[in-house]
This record gives sequence, C-alpha cells and structure tokens, in this order.
Amino acid sequence: MTQGTPPPSPPLPPLPPPMSASATLNSDTPCRKCGYNLRGLNVSGRCPECGAAISISVGGDLLRYSDPDWLQKLANGANLIVTGYIAIFLTTFVAGFFGILRLRSVLAVGTLVAVAAGLLVIVGAWLVTEPDPSGIGEDRYGTARRLIRITLAIGIADSILRIITQFSTLHPGVRLIVHSLQLAAGIATVIGFLAQLQYFSKLTQRIPDDSLTTRANFLKIALPVTYGIFVAFTVLTVVQGPIARGARALGPNPAFLLFGCGTAIVGIAVLVFFIMYLFLVARSGRSFKEQAHAARQMWHWADPNPSGLTQA
Ligand SMILES: [Zn+2]
Repeated sequence: MTQGTPPPSPPLPPLPPPMSASATLNSDTPCRKCGYNLRGLNVSGRCPECGAAISISVGGDLLRYSDPDWLQKLANGANLIVTGYIAIFLTTFVAGFFGILRLRSVLAVGTLVAVAAGLLVIVGAWLVTEPDPSGIGEDRYGTARRLIRITLAIGIADSILRIITQFSTLHPGVRLIVHSLQLAAGIATVIGFLAQLQYFSKLTQRIPDDSLTTRANFLKIALPVTYGIFVAFTVLTVVQGPIARGARALGPNPAFLLFGCGTAIVGIAVLVFFIMYLFLVARSGRSFKEQAHAARQMWHWADPNPSGLTQA
C-alpha cells in the first residue's frame, strides 16, 4: 500500500483559468450574478453591484460557472415541460376512450385536466427561458428566447378560450371568430415550438453537449417538415372524403386511401420525433441539474463566505 494516497473525493467541476490575485480585468466581463460589467476591477474583489466574488465571473460562458439558482430554474422548467406533455398524452388517450362512450361529463373533466397540463408546459417553458442573470447568451439565442415567451402568452389566452368554448354555447358568428383565434394560436404554438428547438440547440452548446445540440438541430428540421406534410395530407384526406362518399357506388377511391395511409404514416413519424423532443428536454433537464450542482460547488470554492447582499 502506498502511504499518503488521498482518499477518493467526489469530482470537482473544472475551475476557471488561474489568474493572479492582483490581476485586473481588462475586457468586458459581466458579473455572473447580476450582469454588471466588471471591466477594470481586480479579480480578488467583489462586484460593486451585488457583492458576488469577481473570481466566479472569469471562467467563460459555460453553464457550470452560471448562477446555480438560475440553472436550477432551467432544470425545473425542463422537468415541468416533460411532465405536462406526458399528462396531456394520457388525458388525450383517456378522453378519446370516453369520447367513444360519449360521456360528456368525463370529456369536460378531460378538457380541464388537459388545460391544467398545458399550463404546466407553459410554466415549464417560461422557467426554461428565464434569461441568464449575467446576460450571457442573449446575443446567440435572445430572439428565440423572447419569441418563445410571446407564444407562451398566446398559449395562455388559447387555454382560456378553450375553457370558454367547452362550457358555453356560443353564437355561430362568435364561434367562428373563436375558432379563427384558436387556429392562429395553433400556428403561434408551432412557431414557439421551433424557437424552443433553436434555443435548446444554442443553450446546450454552453454545457457543452454535442449530442444534445445535434439532436436539437435535427429535430428543428425533422419536426416542421413531417408536421407540414402531416397537415397537408390531413387536409387532402378531408377534401377527398366527400368525393369518396359520392363515388362509393363506383368502388373505393384510390386518392382517398392514398392520402389516408399517408396521413397515418407521417402522423407516426411526427409522434416519434415528438417523443425524441421529450427525451431531448428530459436529458437537458438532467444536464442543467448537474451543471447547477457543479456551479454551486464552483461558487462555494471561489467564495466560501458570499456576502451576496446589495448594500441598502
Ligand atoms: Zn454582480
């Protein structure tokens, strides 16, 4: 046995590049806690704005040097998105089953549960698009991040509309307007969804995790393409439906069968890619949690006694 071998210790996060205690920051460096520009200040000092040790802000733009509380929000947001979508899936499945049995009261409860699950997804996406308090990353994904939040607000309005239409009898004219608004909200949701994949493809570069980035970039193309084809096939099938019924006496309509089969096949592809998206979000959530843990250790290492308080 070799004497003096240190006991195994949990792996520490990579530390920021070593800097002399007397070094002065000569380039724009945002404080990792509040975003204050620390240029011209000494590395051994504290942020004049929030009191955080300046040494935590010199490690570059990787997530593991970010505010641990912010990273934990990202992790919680990702988990809520996944939980919400699973709840929507289950509710849709159960509601579909009771829909066959025509139990209206169960369907109404199903709508409420689906709306609640949708709100979980919205809250999760809101948390996951919380800006880095240092302002880092905004130049790369700030637009996508804000676009997601705008579409989330539209999603909330859509949820309210759904409850209203489910529980009240609307004038046909009003109903038409509501359906048009719901269609617009649906389009906004798709745009927000694509912005989310763009956001994840950029944010995961800050882990960095190439497999997550590659997956997000793949889904950014695969999902809209298959979804677009799915919508086109659905419309074509619906259009062919009456023609098929009218021509039933002449035998089966090949176009109707073709579009129907196409819709089913592309629909399965959309579902598979959507499940891949859920795995992407779940894995990102786990990764954000790990980064939060690493950041907490890093911040503690850099500043064992954080003052953390702004002078009143
Ligand atoms: Zn600060």
